[in-house]
Amino acid sequence: MSDIKLKTDYLIAGSGAVGMAFADIILSETDKDIILVDRYPKPGGHWNVAYPYVTLHQPSQYYGVSSKELSSGLKDQIGLNKGLSDLASGQAVSAYYDDVMRHQFLPSGRVQYFPMCNFLGDGRFVCMLSGKTYTVDHQKMVDATWLKTSVPSTHKPNFKVEDGVNFIPLNDLTKITKAPDGYVVIGAGKTGIDAVLWLLENRVDPDNIRWIMPRDAWLLDRKNTQPSEAFFENTMGAQASQFEAIIASKSIEDMFNRLEDCGYFLRIDKNVRPKMFHGATISKMEVEELRRVKQVIRLGRVQRITKTEIILDQGIIPTRADIIHVDCSARAVSNEEIKPVFEGKLITPQMVRSYQPVFSAAAIAHVEAAYEDEDEKNRLCGVVPLPNHDTDYIRFTAAFMMNQYNWGQDRGMRHWLLDNRLDGFSKMAANVDPEDADKIAILKRIRKSAPMAAMKLQQYLSQLERPTG
Ligand SMILES: Cc1cc2nc3c(=O)[nH]c(=O)nc-3n(C[C@H](O)[C@H](O)[C@H](O)COP(=O)(O)OP(=O)(O)OC[C@H]3O[C@@H](n4cnc5c(N)ncnc54)[C@H](O)[C@@H]3O)c2cc1C
Repeated sequence: MSDIKLKTDYLIAGSGAVGMAFADIILSETDKDIILVDRYPKPGGHWNVAYPYVTLHQPSQYYGVSSKELSSGLKDQIGLNKGLSDLASGQAVSAYYDDVMRHQFLPSGRVQYFPMCNFLGDGRFVCMLSGKTYTVDHQKMVDATWLKTSVPSTHKPNFKVEDGVNFIPLNDLTKITKAPDGYVVIGAGKTGIDAVLWLLENRVDPDNIRWIMPRDAWLLDRKNTQPSEAFFENTMGAQASQFEAIIASKSIEDMFNRLEDCGYFLRIDKNVRPKMFHGATISKMEVEELRRVKQVIRLGRVQRITKTEIILDQGIIPTRADIIHVDCSARAVSNEEIKPVFEGKLITPQMVRSYQPVFSAAAIAHVEAAYEDEDEKNRLCGVVPLPNHDTDYIRFTAAFMMNQYNWGQDRGMRHWLLDNRLDGFSKMAANVDPEDADKIAILKRIRKSAPMAAMKLQQYLSQLERPTG
């Protein structure tokens, strides 16, 4: 059977959050057309297979696509996010993307959507239901699969699990019908945190939970990520305090201490030095709740689980058949490899603002639409490398500050940032009443400290890059 021939301006592989945010800007800022291809039956990527109790971990206000609000505009009145902006549930995020596709993208007449299709490379894809293959004649190829988001329901753990072990992804916690003798939660990233919080919320005794934490993490206080006027002092104040802490620090270790002292970083156990930083965002109430779990296993990564033992890098702990082992070891956005965003016909969306893959995809699409020269485009879209280890915070923050500086120097980018829904922060700063002395003082602190903080980060970077011994 020969390939069906199609033609488009932008061929986008992946209709996850990144592909959707990119397509949305191309639709609103150009007259080009688009083909979106994805293996999943619905847009929204990993949200198709999310666990039932997942929510965003950052405010809904700056998630989704630029052209459509996701947030309900409400603050949570109950629970561990009380007082802070709403966090859309996984179901709400999925419904939102479905709505964007059905009511905005497809009616535009400029988007063709191919769900249930496997992208094969070289402009080709195959429909997994019909077996039909397609070749697309395209102007630009957008690889919106690059971040390689990995979630527990679809990933393969990198340790062995013996037959007969009660081992489930955190998605399946909701399928339990008979209480086990205990739980072992494997993984200390955002999904591990979610699993532990959900068990506690459902009144599981904290002493019935053992939490395998290969590395402790530096966490971000959600109160400092609120894009609304009422939280100006937290959000913008945290930026200023962050830069001041960096400047005042005498060493990298001292910098982390100061970042914690000023409230920029949180950690679960004050006695254990975090070695991981993935940008997970959490409320202080959630941290308090997590501290109720006392059986935290810090013996490195799991190597193997048998019916009687969990074998870790640095030790062995007992287990039993009537204990449920909850896999939270997938690493959400996982690809640490970076490459230029713009390379001829190929566009590879990556992070250009820290913690914000969706805003980043929209910003990259805007640069694609509004600028011609490839070097200039790549200069405006310097890749902010994904953090993994604690010290990656340094490279990540330095790269983001460089982008922020470059955008500030470019009139077009400045205007675009002020207008874009996914950028909650530029507007906050721009809308400050000049008579509001407190807020002006915070902005002055940021302006004064940012260049010195950027220099200090460069110093630390060269220390890290210098060979030891
Ligand atoms: C639990 C959780 C909470 C999160 N909360 C937030 C938050 O609050 N704020 C925030 O900014 N970010 C958050 N994130 C991160 C964010 O949602 C996304 O993970 C990130 O934006 C990456 O999206 P993506 O589109 O690159 O990846 P994906 O969602 O994985 O999308 C990639 C798509 O590509 C498709 N694909 C891959 N290969 C092929 C192929 N060969 N052929 C066809 N299709 C293919 C996949 O089917 C998938 O649909 C969260 C992530 C998780 C896991």
